[in-house]
Amino acid sequence: MATKEDFYKILGVERNASDAEIKKSYRSLAMKHHPDRNKDNPEAAEIKFKEINQAYEVLSDPKKRSAYDQFGHAGVDGSAGRGGGAGAGDFGDIFGDMFGDIFGGRRGSGQQGGQRGSDLRYNIEISLEEAVNGTEQKIRIPVLVTCDSCLGSGAKKGSSPVTCSTCHGHGQVRMQQGFFTVQQTCPTCRGTGKQIKDPCGKCYGQGRVKDEKTLSAKIPAGVDTGDRIRLSGEGEAGQMGAPSGDLYIDVQVRRHTIFNRDGANLSCEVPISFVTACLGGEIEVPTLGGKATLKIPTETQTGQTFRLRGKGVKPVRGGAIGDLLCSVKIETPVKLTTEQKALVEKLGESLSNGGTHHSPQESGWLDGVKNFFDKLTG
Ligand SMILES: [Zn+2]
Ligand SMILES: [Zn+2]
Repeated sequence: MATKEDFYKILGVERNASDAEIKKSYRSLAMKHHPDRNKDNPEAAEIKFKEINQAYEVLSDPKKRSAYDQFGHAGVDGSAGRGGGAGAGDFGDIFGDMFGDIFGGRRGSGQQGGQRGSDLRYNIEISLEEAVNGTEQKIRIPVLVTCDSCLGSGAKKGSSPVTCSTCHGHGQVRMQQGFFTVQQTCPTCRGTGKQIKDPCGKCYGQGRVKDEKTLSAKIPAGVDTGDRIRLSGEGEAGQMGAPSGDLYIDVQVRRHTIFNRDGANLSCEVPISFVTACLGGEIEVPTLGGKATLKIPTETQTGQTFRLRGKGVKPVRGGAIGDLLCSVKIETPVKLTTEQKALVEKLGESLSNGGTHHSPQESGWLDGVKNFFDKLTG
C-alpha cells in the first residue's frame, strides 16, 4: 500500500529543490529514522524509514520525479513503494558511506541475475583491552550459502536455467497504466530473467542452502561500543549467483573493573594515603600498558585529577592517543592503635591552633553555610 503523503513534504524540501538538496535532506532523515537508531520504537521508525526511502526513490530519479510532478502519486505508483527487498540494501548504503573508508571497500552492485543476498548483523562483546589493542575473533554465523550442487544456478546438475519466456530475459515487463507505460518486475521470474525447468534437488531451485560458517573477524584497534564493522560480501549469498550481502558486526565493549572509557580518554580512581596526600610522593598506577608512576604533589585534595598523557586510547578513526585521568581518593586510616590515635589527636590540636587556615575547603564551606542562614533569618 503506497502512502499518499506528498513526497516533497516527507523529505522536507521545496518542490523546486535541487538534486543535491534532496539528497542531503534524505541522508539526514534516513540516518535519523534508521530503525537501528530508534531502538525504543523500531516499528514506527521502520515505517518512517520506508516512507523516506520511497520518496527519495522517486525524487532522486529525474524521470520518476517529472512523472510525479505532473501526475502525482498516480504517475509513479507501481514503481515506488515496492522496495521490500531494497530495504536492507539501503541500510547498507548509508553505513557504507559512513564507514566504507575505514572498514573496507564498497561492495559490487551487480543486479544481473537474482537478488543480492541479505545483510547480516552480529553482536560482538569484547574486553576493553581487546578494543584498545585490536583483536581477531572467531565468530559463527548462520547463513545461506551458494549451493555447491548446482553452483548457485538453482538448476539440476547437467541442466541450466532457461531464458524467461514472459520477459525474454529482461527481468522487467512493461505495463500500460493510464497515459503511460511503467516497468514492473517480471512476475514469472521475479526479475531474474531466467526460469528453472528442472530444479536442483539440494536447494530446491533456490541456488542457496542453509549453513553455518565460521569467520575470522578482525576488530581494529580503538573501536568503541556502538561501532559497526562491515565485512563486505560475508552476509547471505545472493540468489542465482548475485552478489552476497554484507556482514555487520556491532561492537559492545564490556565494563572494565578499573578503567572507564570516554572516547579516547581513560579514567580511574586511585586511593592514596592521608600521609602521601599531605606530604606528596610517588605512587604506582595501573595503565592498559602496565604500571606507571604518578607524582602526587604536597597538599593534594581528594578528587583531584592527574593526567597521564598518551596513556589512553588511540581512536579507530585516527587522531591523537588519549590520556589516562587518575582521580585520587584520600583514605582515612583505620584500625588505629592507642598510640596512633594520640598522635592524630596531637596533630589535630596543632592544626586547630591555625584555625581554618589548614582547611581550604572548610573555610569556604562555613562561609557558605553562614550566608545561607543569614538569608533565611534576614
Ligand atoms: Zn542447488
Ligand atoms: Zn521474466
